[in-house]
Amino acid sequence: MNLDDELFLASRVALAGLCFYAALVGWRMGMGYTSRPDHRFRGLAGAALMVLVGLLHLGSGLDEGIRKAGIRVELINWVWLAVDFLVPLFFLRMAHAFAARDRLEAELAEAAAHDPLTGLPNRMGFARLAEAALARAARQGQPSVAVMLDIDHFKSVNDGWGHAAGDTLLKGVARAAQGAIRREDALGRVGGEEFALVLPGLTPSEALPLVNRLREAITEIVPHPGAPARRLTLSAGIAAIESSDVLALERGFQAADQALYAAKEGGRDQARIAG
Ligand code: GH3
Ligand code: MG
Ligand code: MG
Repeated sequence: MNLDDELFLASRVALAGLCFYAALVGWRMGMGYTSRPDHRFRGLAGAALMVLVGLLHLGSGLDEGIRKAGIRVELINWVWLAVDFLVPLFFLRMAHAFAARDRLEAELAEAAAHDPLTGLPNRMGFARLAEAALARAARQGQPSVAVMLDIDHFKSVNDGWGHAAGDTLLKGVARAAQGAIRREDALGRVGGEEFALVLPGLTPSEALPLVNRLREAITEIVPHPGAPARRLTLSAGIAAIESSDVLALERGFQAADQALYAAKEGGRDQARIAG
């Protein structure tokens, strides 16, 4: 084996190595897509192709470098080898572009489902979370309740202390509520100063003390901009969700909304059960 053979063999082995690395990237990409079968197929098919190309180069590298050692390596052989290097490089570039696009897609989906001010799920994101929470509870044969939570006299905060103070208050309420709920509960900001919750595993009468504790926790944690003369309070409406389908969820929230209205009529700073 002369230097030319050794160099050519080494280049072929390096190319095979690059192909196997590209295959690994494709494999990891494919296995990462647990919920997208079409994406998974793309990654795994790419990985299989790269393994094949890598094996071919390894095989012909060993063949040319060892079995046919001594045959002159022409310039054209080097040119083709260089061209072949483009295959795994192109694959890696594609994998990189796909990964960037998928990341962007995930970011956009995340942004579309969340409220930028508080970071809580918005109406759309909440609907998805609520349906999932409801379905989980139903599978375990448990009931769920819908809760509407509304800040009292929020408009007076904006009017008296400015919109920025109102925004700060909303962020505080969102954070405090998020910190006070259970892991299985779904929470979202579904209106200006309105928050919705699905509490799985509870009946309305069981939810009432929980909701009252939540209201008290928020009042405790979030300062009113006019404190200490004023304190932030919230009203809530609670209703049962009769079954796990989407219509029952809607009906539950309509009833919770009416109960919220009754709580406002009844003097605010309280929670009411529907019906
Ligand atoms: P009630 O006790 O009856 O609930 O009275 P309220 O003042 O809380 O309710 P109302 O519906 O009259 O006013 C809600 C206000 O919330 C009006 C709106 O300008 C304000 N608002 C809605 N979204 C935002 C927001 O993102 N930031 C701020 N700062 N204010 C908001
Ligand atoms: Mg309000
Ligand atoms: Mg309101």
